[in-house]
Amino acid sequence: MEVSFYGGAGEVGRSSIEVFGDKKHLLLDCGIKLGAETEVPQINDALFARSKNIVITHAHLDHIGYLPHLFERGQSPALYATKPTFALMELLLDDYWRISGSFSKKTVKRVMNAGRIIPFLKKVKEKHAPSFSLHNAGHILGSAMVEVFDGGGLIYTGDFRLREGRLMQGCERRMRAKTLIMEGTYGAKMDKLPSIRRASSDLANSVRRTLEGGGSVLIPSFAVGRGQEIMLVLEDYMRSGFLPAVPIYVDGMIRKANAIYSKYTDFLRPELHRRTNKSMDNPFESRFFFSPKKQNRAKMLEEPSIIISTSGMLSGGPALEYLRLMAGNKKNKLIFVGYQAEGTLGRRIQDGEKFVLLDGEECYISLDVESVHFSAHADHDDLVEFARGMRGLKKIFLVHGEEAKLHELMADLKNFEVIIPEISETFKV
Ligand SMILES: [Zn+2]
Ligand SMILES: [Zn+2]
Repeated sequence: MEVSFYGGAGEVGRSSIEVFGDKKHLLLDCGIKLGAETEVPQINDALFARSKNIVITHAHLDHIGYLPHLFERGQSPALYATKPTFALMELLLDDYWRISGSFSKKTVKRVMNAGRIIPFLKKVKEKHAPSFSLHNAGHILGSAMVEVFDGGGLIYTGDFRLREGRLMQGCERRMRAKTLIMEGTYGAKMDKLPSIRRASSDLANSVRRTLEGGGSVLIPSFAVGRGQEIMLVLEDYMRSGFLPAVPIYVDGMIRKANAIYSKYTDFLRPELHRRTNKSMDNPFESRFFFSPKKQNRAKMLEEPSIIISTSGMLSGGPALEYLRLMAGNKKNKLIFVGYQAEGTLGRRIQDGEKFVLLDGEECYISLDVESVHFSAHADHDDLVEFARGMRGLKKIFLVHGEEAKLHELMADLKNFEVIIPEISETFKV
């Protein structure tokens, strides 16, 4: 069997890996890399022609964003993923279509129609693909690792989290395979992520200080995963009385993602699933949450409140309007809870920029700016622990990470043959 890397090699974005041999073929993920310019995987004509079976690990655009383009180029592959992944995919591809306009709305429908739902642990056998199965990856709702059974066994982690989060169980461990393709987003030695407990209490303490001082808090957040996690953390602290009972306004695409998280609670932590199932106590519909109307945004900020809104890096969405309304009052606070990519407004404000353009209006950032580190990935030590815990493992490919970080990670995986592939490279496994 051979493995080729068409994207996500030495970078975070446009993940796309091909596994083939014995006239059988499987593409693992098919993403894009968003930035100043959108980058796509290096899918040449030969690969394009044989791209008939694609497994999708999870619904983030860096793993699915190239699918509409592939369909528009004239290919109609079968797509395999879990049920919630397809639900989230529709939401995110729709949003991508709205923002980019680089394919037609009809194409999104065609992509969705090509979906085949695969439950975890079910062995899938297709004539022209090596047999495979999916395992829980603990990253976002429905996220999966892929096990390919041919060639001594291969595991592709996709994005994963080893430890339990507020919403998701940690990933499956101790699988048996000769080859591992592992992400390394936080692979550097310095990448030590705080526990969910620690991050949660840091967030609650920070929010409390601002509310008690009479200010409001804006938390820009990604729609899928992070938004729901922050909601539940704040709800816990408010219900316990640690946080004063102010309205928590949830705005932007987070609400649409909530509906999907509420629908597939069997993919969440068992406690959360039981809570929703037994008592009809939907954690996303707590009495503390409110869905604001667009025209009320200025009015609702007259009283201390908490706003959770897209987009996570302040590159669009209602979060920008809230920031414009809140920026001038130093009693208010902006809290980043996710990664801020280079060049985004979020990163510039995080780095201390004070004069920014918001909705065409020059604003001075007087409000407090803080960051609390939540993550849906494994950190350096988790990555090492995961690889060492596998059975029969010989060879590791490190992907989905900056090259320097992957090299640091490689140094701590001495018992294995470790390869950091480059784009378009092919290896025997
Ligand atoms: Zn992801
Ligand atoms: Zn990713």
